[in-house]
Amino acid sequence: MKISVQNLNMTYPTGKKALQDVSLEMQSPNFIGLLGPNGAGKSTLMKLLVAGLLPTTGEIQLDDVPLIKNEKKLKAALGYLPQNFGLYDELTVWQFLDYMSALKGIKESKSEIERVIGETNLIEKRKARISTLSGGQRQRVGIAQALLGSPQFLIFDEPTVGLDPEERINFRNLFSKNAQDKIVLLSTHIIEDVQSVCNRLIVMNHGRILFDGRSEELIRLAYGHVGVYNEEVQENEEHGFKVTARMNTANGISCRIIAEVLPDFVHPTEPTLEDAYIYLIEKGWKGQ
Ligand code: ADP
Repeated sequence: MKISVQNLNMTYPTGKKALQDVSLEMQSPNFIGLLGPNGAGKSTLMKLLVAGLLPTTGEIQLDDVPLIKNEKKLKAALGYLPQNFGLYDELTVWQFLDYMSALKGIKESKSEIERVIGETNLIEKRKARISTLSGGQRQRVGIAQALLGSPQFLIFDEPTVGLDPEERINFRNLFSKNAQDKIVLLSTHIIEDVQSVCNRLIVMNHGRILFDGRSEELIRLAYGHVGVYNEEVQENEEHGFKVTARMNTANGISCRIIAEVLPDFVHPTEPTLEDAYIYLIEKGWKGQ
């Protein structure tokens, strides 16, 4: 499966330009983390990819055919968890998944529902009404419905919202397992969600793609722009840099900073993916 996005622009009726000249190619297998602050345009891009919105200009192609002419194929191949996923509160977990299976036209629905309930650790909750579930459990039901039928193209918009740390780890493992031969696009603003599992990162801000590549390449961009200094030794004045962490150490408070040019009193240090992401967002924003 191949999805090609060409020069996509999306302006909402309010006049808000949510996407500006976005182009990208996705081919299976591909596990992509879509990162960006709130309002960056991630959900808008995802809605366009599932044909839930039409772009103002530009085109999306699925296996070299325009998406609007290939919607049937898209629907058959798609598993989607939108950001505000509405569940039917009065149904049980099983009834809801049965209903979603019917909508998707899944034939062996019983075994398929068993499978996704098992993968999302919902076995004990299968007979529970959705209205009685916690936020994390509801989110897992949303993830389960997207996995029904083992779709080739999985789109998850902020899937880890509401999950506790253990559930987040389970979720990442579930994804690595499910991603093998598929295209998975996962949006988040939590770096740890994508760090270990994604083989490609796309960073967006203000409706534009700022970076598209491997996490090592993103980290490399931040070399020489991340450092630490001791706050006891150096007074914290306005130096034109961003402090990303303060840590108590035996020698006082150690500050971790990101700057275009590191001041003399700062010792350069190895950037993490999070540092690199912040550096890119700050740089992109200042460059507007
Ligand atoms: P993200 O998912 O990265 O948080 P969104 O795609 O939801 O970003 O939003 C991108 C921009 O478009 C934001 O400024 C948002 O306020 C705006 N936006 C999103 N949906 C609509 C809409 N239906 N009408 C008008 N503006 C919208």
